[in-house]
Amino acid sequence: HAKKQGRNGYRFFEHAMNADVHQQMQLQQDLRKAIHNNELVLYYQPKLVAPAGPLTGIEALIRWQSPEHGFLTPDRFLPLAESSGLIVPIGNWVINEACRQMKVWFDQGHSDWSMAVNLSAVQLEHISLVDVVREALEEHELSPAHLVLEITESTAMRDAEASLKVLNKLAALGVSISIDDFGTGYSSLLYLKHLPANELKIDRGFITELAQGNDDEAIIQAIIALGKTLGMKIVAEGVETPEQQELLTRLGCDTLQGYLLGRPGPADMVSTITEQPERAPDLVPAF
Ligand code: C2E
Ligand code: MG
Ligand code: MG
Ligand code: MG
Repeated sequence: HAKKQGRNGYRFFEHAMNADVHQQMQLQQDLRKAIHNNELVLYYQPKLVAPAGPLTGIEALIRWQSPEHGFLTPDRFLPLAESSGLIVPIGNWVINEACRQMKVWFDQGHSDWSMAVNLSAVQLEHISLVDVVREALEEHELSPAHLVLEITESTAMRDAEASLKVLNKLAALGVSISIDDFGTGYSSLLYLKHLPANELKIDRGFITELAQGNDDEAIIQAIIALGKTLGMKIVAEGVETPEQQELLTRLGCDTLQGYLLGRPGPADMVSTITEQPERAPDLVPAF
């Protein structure tokens, strides 16, 4: 009896797995066409000087408006883009589109803003990334001072040697490097010391339960001290409450980012935020 059940269980599993594999293959096929069909969109989330502005930077966050699958956030398609290699053309598109939009804002008078773009490990391990970034800046007549590249510790660690080489070349171009989701990876302090990074973003995980009387405050203090020792600007991501905003500012974060200060949204939403910063959080729905 037990054997029979086991076999049925296996069949069920196999069936579910086939359906899943099929779905992923379909998704990959559609994603392959997404660039050409203009289905990829960049949303933008502001980074503000603590505690409440002005705006110093904007982070570009990819979305896929798919006719077949609906409006997708990165968790739904980036893993697939990474495993299939599609992240390279997609990532190149992101870099170009973000530079184009930064140039529009620059021309509107926002000469002190910078644009942050997230990078995947696959992108960072290709030396051609340096050319892609240089060409995008040239094409849009943008100074490298207006571009920030966000990488996570794990992104940089996957092939630490290759990544460091590319990062040093990017830094030599004059773009800034930011370490995203800091505190979640396994990079050694020695490796961190060698990264040409100017900014450190404390992972949202440490912020979420802040002000609830746990160890998170002490951990954040330690991260800030470490980052400042290495000469980095400190950003807190995922700021959702006024209590977090107040505490993070008091602890010494230079820049804050989070739903409280502005949700990610289409480019035209950013001008609304800059005109009425205190009203930003309730202007747009959550994604
Ligand atoms: P990330 O770079 O750490 O971006 C922060 C994520 O947290 C974003 O999710 C953002 O929408 C969300 N977020 C911002 N503020 C808050 C908040 O106050 N509370 C909460 N709960 N969430 C907040 P999103 O847009 O879904 O992006 C997820 C991740 O996907 C990003 O994490 C980044 O690693 C990756 N990603 C996004 N766009 C790109 C891209 O163009 N290229 C690459 N390679 N990766 C990207
Ligand atoms: Mg980021
Ligand atoms: Mg992050
Ligand atoms: Mg993240």
